[in-house]
Amino acid sequence: MNKYAIITDFDGTVTTRDIGNTLALRAGSITLQGIEEDYKQNKDAKEWMAYHFGRMNFSKEEFEELVLSFAKIRPGFDELAGYAKQNAIPFEIASGGLDIYISPVLKRGNIKDIIVYSMRGVFDGRKIKVDFPHFADLTLEDFKKSRVDFYKQKGYKVIFAGDGPSDFPAAKSAGIVFAADKLAKLCKTNKIKFFELKDFKPVLEILKKPI
Ligand SMILES: [Mg+2]
Repeated sequence: MNKYAIITDFDGTVTTRDIGNTLALRAGSITLQGIEEDYKQNKDAKEWMAYHFGRMNFSKEEFEELVLSFAKIRPGFDELAGYAKQNAIPFEIASGGLDIYISPVLKRGNIKDIIVYSMRGVFDGRKIKVDFPHFADLTLEDFKKSRVDFYKQKGYKVIFAGDGPSDFPAAKSAGIVFAADKLAKLCKTNKIKFFELKDFKPVLEILKKPI
């Protein structure tokens, strides 16, 4: 019998929109056009986050309040996390986002007991310093793929959900793919089978179906 593991991106996947991009836009360090340009040029995610969050000027309280004013979790995510926990199904977030916004969003959604790999943000007064304890030696793309491969090697069938170009290597390696936005386009172009990610209910249905 197959056993499942779930790996998901955070920004634009667990949430309906990309929190990192939205914060950089709100802080005024980039335009929407600039973000699209950076995607096209395949800018390094770690450098991008360190640069844009390094220029922000928020107290921790202001930062969290802003994040929670627009962050929305896709429907079905909390049920999925609860089901995975009850049934000992490995469930990880592998994200190029920052713990300082992922934690408050998950906390408000009452989502606990989920493993989160992300970049780390540390407040120093009104400044944010970004570092990468989980993937200092890997690119974000390779790190995400490494989490999929970790469970594959242990014999799991891996369900991967994502929305961006940095999710593509992980999606290619996964057994079942849920994709939104740019990742969906990439999968289509490269003929990788995927389900359109709108919410997390279909993921739960797969887990509940006997294989
Ligand atoms: Mg994303």
